[in-house]
Amino acid sequence: MTAIHIPDGSPFGLANLPYGIFSTAGTAPRAGVRAGDSVVDLAVALGDEVFARPSLNAFMAQGYERWVEVRARITDLVRGDVPDEAVHPIGAVTMHMPIEVADYVDFYASEHHASNLGRLFRPDDEPLKPNWKHLPVGYHGRAGTVVLSGTEIVRPYGQRKAPAEAAPTFGACRRLDIEAELGFIVGAGSALGSPVSCDDFARHVFGAVLVNDWSARDIQAWEYVPLGPFLGKSFATSISAWVVPLLALDAARVPTPVQDPEPLPYLREQTPWGLDVDLTVEWNGQAVSHPPYREMYWSPAQMLAHMTVNGASARTGDLYASGTISGPEPHQRGAFIELTWGGKEPVTVNGEERSFLEDGDEVAITATAPGAGGTRIGFGEVRGRVVGRTTP
Ligand code: CA
Repeated sequence: MTAIHIPDGSPFGLANLPYGIFSTAGTAPRAGVRAGDSVVDLAVALGDEVFARPSLNAFMAQGYERWVEVRARITDLVRGDVPDEAVHPIGAVTMHMPIEVADYVDFYASEHHASNLGRLFRPDDEPLKPNWKHLPVGYHGRAGTVVLSGTEIVRPYGQRKAPAEAAPTFGACRRLDIEAELGFIVGAGSALGSPVSCDDFARHVFGAVLVNDWSARDIQAWEYVPLGPFLGKSFATSISAWVVPLLALDAARVPTPVQDPEPLPYLREQTPWGLDVDLTVEWNGQAVSHPPYREMYWSPAQMLAHMTVNGASARTGDLYASGTISGPEPHQRGAFIELTWGGKEPVTVNGEERSFLEDGDEVAITATAPGAGGTRIGFGEVRGRVVGRTTP
């Protein structure tokens, strides 16, 4: 038996215990929980076949009571002794996609981001559209191109037309960007025709991951009217490998900002699900931004309520992301188009000037949040490097 040593101050202590899918040399991907610098093989430690599968979906589908029970059992195991054969050092494992993504939706829940993008994309218009403070604006994205952190991002190609150009041209994206977001994973689905109320959020959402919604701004600016984002977003969306259970985020709950006008009844929360998560965006290893999730106008519970209020069902494995997280300060902007104000105010990254991503650039987004007992829990990272496409 092994007693798992968790270093003092580890972001992966007992207050966190995030789930992921891992493999070791020559073995099949299966579910594990991270504790300190170790990964606990759940199929071995708990003797349950549901954890031997290559995604968390089957376990997530078992529902809220089961999530609570398994978390309690893992906590006891990690506190006590885990069978030797169930423990792997983090350096010896390969991580895989934690979930099989069912549907993917992306919201637009930061007032600061939506206002900045409004000013950049529509300089002659009101920055926020009239609907923005009445409903969490979102769009349906492409589930099949949600990829694991570390996956190389191939520069997208498409039609782009700058405002000064008379006609569109085809070619490689010239304004490749990021969007730092949190993603929420539906564990227990809902029936078609039955909306999920804000207060039932925690019974449906299993956990959260970091998301980088890679964005081709030149393709997006030309194509998005009138139906919204399409090919400027669908080439790749990266997520972090560790799913932080919603049960671990209780200590991070904070009120959402004042919502004025008061939302319609279906969007009202008894206790709002604002989250005090601090993100950091690193560009080629240099921290360039610190987006604060607590500034998000709409909570993830309101997003889920809105997503299902028309009667649409939610399914196990659905991923919905918050939208770019931007705070009120320039150094809190979660997209480079905002950080560099449309490319007009480049940032210096390791001595080189940058407005948008160049081939070879790498972006890593990390985050921490308050955990139970005065601890700090970590989300790990979502990382990706941009590479050029070899076939134009
Ligand atoms: Ca986005």
